[in-house]
Amino acid sequence: MSRADIGIDLGTSNVIVYISDKGIVLDEPSVIAVDARTNNIISVGKDARKMLGKTPKNIKVIRPIRKGIIADYAMAETMLKYFINKVIEKKGIGIFLMPRIMVCVPSGLTAIEKKAVEEATRQAGAREVYIIEEPIAAAVGAGIDISEATGSMIIDIGGGTTDIAVISLGGTVISESIKVAGDKFDEDILKYIKAKYNLVIGDRTAEKVKLEIANVYEDEEKSIIIRGVDIITRLPKAIKINCYETKEALEESVNQIIELSNRVLGKTPPELIADIAEKGIIMTGGGCLLKGLAKRIEDKLGIEVKIADNPTICVAKGTGETLNSLDILENATGKIR
Ligand code: ADP
Ligand code: MG
Repeated sequence: MSRADIGIDLGTSNVIVYISDKGIVLDEPSVIAVDARTNNIISVGKDARKMLGKTPKNIKVIRPIRKGIIADYAMAETMLKYFINKVIEKKGIGIFLMPRIMVCVPSGLTAIEKKAVEEATRQAGAREVYIIEEPIAAAVGAGIDISEATGSMIIDIGGGTTDIAVISLGGTVISESIKVAGDKFDEDILKYIKAKYNLVIGDRTAEKVKLEIANVYEDEEKSIIIRGVDIITRLPKAIKINCYETKEALEESVNQIIELSNRVLGKTPPELIADIAEKGIIMTGGGCLLKGLAKRIEDKLGIEVKIADNPTICVAKGTGETLNSLDILENATGKIR
């Protein structure tokens, strides 16, 4: 890769920027904080995320990409440009060395939204812009040789969506997506606690429960004390929640992901199923780290499910590295433009 090739994973939870000879150069939450009256940027990324749920009226904290679609177009564009500029400035890439940028976008984006991301990237200073589908990028990042005529099944679980695809020869054979992923897991925990304990907790607290004690396969001797507000008394209250309760809370979402995996496999041609059974299913994205999830899918499908090395950065890595193999991708129709 030449010095000025950049891969960007524009995820619903995190934006990750990868440069082949440098690795990850930026990894920040997809969050932007602006002045509510003027829309001037106050902070972007990590600093903005810290403000979620804690802001006074004059500050708006926005997650512009939600559930795999662009919820706030102008803010998504501002955020993307801000991150690109940050990377380009840090690297000291001048106007004469404008980078080629490959962007991986959430699966639910319409053609118009993809075009808009492409345009924003160009305006931020890219010489050439390419948009890649997430399963292909995830596969490359997970170390799969996509030019081979063998089938691979990829399950990417991000913040907004779970994307399941079977790929072969650099192209997608089958691809399905549902809006059940990391954010939904947090929501499930939040709703469960509200219903069972009359306690309202924040999104960040729900995520903390998920990260620290959740297990959807087996019950562990783990618990956590969390604080929130009692619905009835409206006073602060703390409760203890245990591992088994997280399994109960997440059961429906886990089953939806298992069902979708099963459906995709059901539509896969037999030759490719044989390849997948031999190599195993690969999981990527932060959501695949939910404890016990891989095992649950494995038990249902009867095929080994492997979590990729560094699953949260796979897509970004694959996105950066595919700039080297544009020819393979261009041969597979509609995978890139
Ligand atoms: P996106 O591609 O949508 O930006 P990511 O692949 O970065 O999303 O994944 C973000 C999601 O992964 C978040 O919901 C986060 O809570 C979840 N996540 C990250 N680490 C873990 C973990 N160890 N266990 C469970 N969930 C995790
Ligand atoms: Mg992702």
